[in-house]
Amino acid sequence: MAVRTRKAIASPDLASVSGVAPLSAASGILGVRVFDVGQGDAIAILAKVGGTEQVALQLDYGGRERNPFTTNADVDTRMPVSQNRLLMLTHWDEDHWSSAPKGSQAKGARWVVPRQVTSPRAVRFSASLNDIHCIPEKHVGQTIRFTAGNGDYILAEKIGSFPGAFAKNEDCNKSGVALAIVHRSSNGDEAILLPGDAPFDKVAPFVRLEKQGVRLRAIIAFHHGAGTNWTASTDKLLQNWSRAPILDVVFSCSRPNSYSHPDDGRYKALLPGANFHMTADLRTNAAVSRDILF
Ligand SMILES: [Zn+2]
Repeated sequence: MAVRTRKAIASPDLASVSGVAPLSAASGILGVRVFDVGQGDAIAILAKVGGTEQVALQLDYGGRERNPFTTNADVDTRMPVSQNRLLMLTHWDEDHWSSAPKGSQAKGARWVVPRQVTSPRAVRFSASLNDIHCIPEKHVGQTIRFTAGNGDYILAEKIGSFPGAFAKNEDCNKSGVALAIVHRSSNGDEAILLPGDAPFDKVAPFVRLEKQGVRLRAIIAFHHGAGTNWTASTDKLLQNWSRAPILDVVFSCSRPNSYSHPDDGRYKALLPGANFHMTADLRTNAAVSRDILF
């Protein structure tokens, strides 16, 4: 069996996570914009800033198999990123960042990423960016919180250490970053889960939100809806979670794809009555993205 060459991301640590403040000018969080990138993930977190809608944070910027980009300029047109915008990666698998080298805008963002063992190609790309910092390892297992003016907040956590238990062949999904966004409301707080490729129950802030009674508004199915790494505790967490009046479930993947994603039957059986969406279906209507708003 071929042995994959793996290397470590060598970008410097962030001097201080308190310097990262994507919601400092925001009066509230509106929701998320999930882009059709083919097989992969790219999600914008939408905030209200001075009465207008702005992207506060871009989470992942991927897209590989069957991506919708016919020219490199399409990447910028479909997924605009302004200069110095915060761009966070859940992890370094290519389907989560591979559109960035094609477009011209994302490279000018401020990248905050997990330090991981990954492909030499990912390490080379990371080294080409001017403003890229790793979340310091002392924050592993500790939740970073960004708060908007009205109390809405983003939770971000690096869920596993570098180097991992299997440093030579690290499983990126288990040492990456997961985010949740929470909208405060007098009718009950609501959350949207952005797990990247990590199972929901492996993300401590998700487990805490469920215990706190924050209702489930939407989930991006982890690992593009894969049924692998799904355990009884994944079932239990989603099944027990109290739901907002509308629950949206989004599968971010191409159709078809070589991984048999998504295992949507599993989600449909577990979450009857939810609305199920697949990013690949957006293309039928020439749509670029789907917004899930609070
Ligand atoms: Zn992925």
